[in-house]
Amino acid sequence: MADPWQECMDYAVILARQAGEMIREALKNEMDVMIKSSPADLVTVTDQKVEKMLMSSIKEKYPCHSFIGEESVAAGEKTVFTEQPTWVIDPIDGTTNFVHRFPFVAVSIGFLVNKEMEFGIVYSCVEDKMYTGRKGKGAFCNGQKLQVSQQEDITKSLLVTELGSSRKPETLRIVLSNMEKLCSVPVHGIRSVGTAAVNMCLVATGGADAYYEMGIHCWDMAGAGIIVTEAGGVLMDVTGEIMPPQSMQGSLLCGSLQNQTLADGDSGVASATT
Ligand SMILES: [Mg+2]
Repeated sequence: MADPWQECMDYAVILARQAGEMIREALKNEMDVMIKSSPADLVTVTDQKVEKMLMSSIKEKYPCHSFIGEESVAAGEKTVFTEQPTWVIDPIDGTTNFVHRFPFVAVSIGFLVNKEMEFGIVYSCVEDKMYTGRKGKGAFCNGQKLQVSQQEDITKSLLVTELGSSRKPETLRIVLSNMEKLCSVPVHGIRSVGTAAVNMCLVATGGADAYYEMGIHCWDMAGAGIIVTEAGGVLMDVTGEIMPPQSMQGSLLCGSLQNQTLADGDSGVASATT
């Protein structure tokens, strides 16, 4: 049987490249930076322009589909997952990187049907790396098949996480205390690339063994989630429960193997509300 969603996926790859071109062009110019939920939660006109381009292009081709976009939600639209084919868009994941020209900036497009992830695209546009995952067909980066590390021993692991954008003292305390506990396990190291989508793709490549973050949104992980699972990894909340796609928010842990949970009593990762 022909794959009913392949055409959508091919179109998403074309649009992600176009979006990447817009972002790379914008990096050459001066930027107007605005603030969202905290002084460290930034947005630019380019975030809004890229989302508008992606949304209007997809709506024109697939008018019956549903949409969730980071900047549309910021502008007041609701995040509602239905059974409908649904596109989940983060036009720029890593806006702070974009503002500082730190070279990890991604366009993330996820696609769900009946609340199941069908495909995901993450285009790390400065590096020109196109990550894709299609249900049952594997995950790839620039055509190379991806496989998670299969590291089961946390003391031999390299982790990725983010400090997050909250600057509330109690949230920061929890975030830093989690890092301290993990360093004391000890793990080999902790890295932050500055974009959830690229962090997750790094787990899919095997370059990192696990990624965790508190206060993640559905658009941060809708594209990369299936790239991780198709590379052999798992998505969980930090209590170790497998994460259903429609609850894609809150706390996320993704890793190469399920028994690699960081949320057991020994490591004691706590959840912070941001
Ligand atoms: Mg964004």
